[in-house]
Amino acid sequence: MSRVGSHLVGILGGTFDPIHYGHLRISEELVETMSLREMRFIPAGAPRLRTPPLASAYHRTTMVQAAIQNNSRFILDEREIHRPGVSYSVDTVRELRLEMGEDVTLCLVMGADAFMKLAQWHDWHDLFGLCHIIIAARPGHGLTTRLDSLPQVPREEITHRWADSLADLESAPCGLIYIAPTTLLDISATAIRTLISTQSSARYLLPDAVLDYIETNHLYSGEE
Ligand code: ATP
Repeated sequence: MSRVGSHLVGILGGTFDPIHYGHLRISEELVETMSLREMRFIPAGAPRLRTPPLASAYHRTTMVQAAIQNNSRFILDEREIHRPGVSYSVDTVRELRLEMGEDVTLCLVMGADAFMKLAQWHDWHDLFGLCHIIIAARPGHGLTTRLDSLPQVPREEITHRWADSLADLESAPCGLIYIAPTTLLDISATAIRTLISTQSSARYLLPDAVLDYIETNHLYSGEE
C-alpha cells in the first residue's frame, strides 16, 4: 500500500513561552505542503537543555490553546506538562509511536537552532528508529542547506539520513532528516519577552489572543 499524506503526523515540542507566529506559520506550511494529518503542539514541562520558562506550564498551555483554537489540524498535546520530571522528547515520541500504530509516520519538527544541539538530546539516536526529523530553517541559525556545519552532531551519523524530497520521506517509516523550505521568520519568544518587559509593542509577532492573554495575566512584564 502506498503511504499517503494522511499517515503523516507532525510533532512540534517547545517551551512556547509564549507561542508565536514563527511556530504557527511553519506548522501551517508543513501541514499544507506535507499533507500532515495533524500537527501536535507539545509544551515542555521541565526542559533539560535550557533555563526554566518564565510563564507557568498552565499559562503556556493556555496560550497554545488560544493560538491554535481555530485550526482543526492543530492539536494541543499536554502529556509533557503532566509527566513528572524532566521532559525528554524521545519519551514523548516513544509514547506517540505506541499510541498511533504502525500506519502513522511521525515527523518531529524542530528549528535549525534545536537541530544543531541534537547530540545533547537524551537518547537522540533512538529518535531515528521512531520518527523522521523535519528541520525548519531559522534566520541566524545556519543550516539553510545540509552543507552547513553541524558543530555538535557527528556528521557521519547523519550523512546517510538526508531526504531530498517529500517522496523520500514517504518511502520510509522513520530515520530520515529533511530540511523543509518553510518561510524564514525572524521571530523568537526571547525577543517577544524582551519587548514586553520593556513596555514595547510585540503586536503582529504573535496572535492577538495570545497577546491579550499576556496582558491580562501580566506575563513577562516583571509584575507577575
Ligand atoms: P526562546 O526564544 O525562548 O528560545 P523560541 O522562539 O525558540 O523560544 P520554542 O518554544 O523554544 O521557541 O521553540 C519550539 C521549536 O520551534 C524549536 O524547535 C524552535 O527551534 C522552533 N522555532 C521557534 N521559532 C521558530 C522560527 N521563527 N522559525 C523556525 N523554527 C522556530
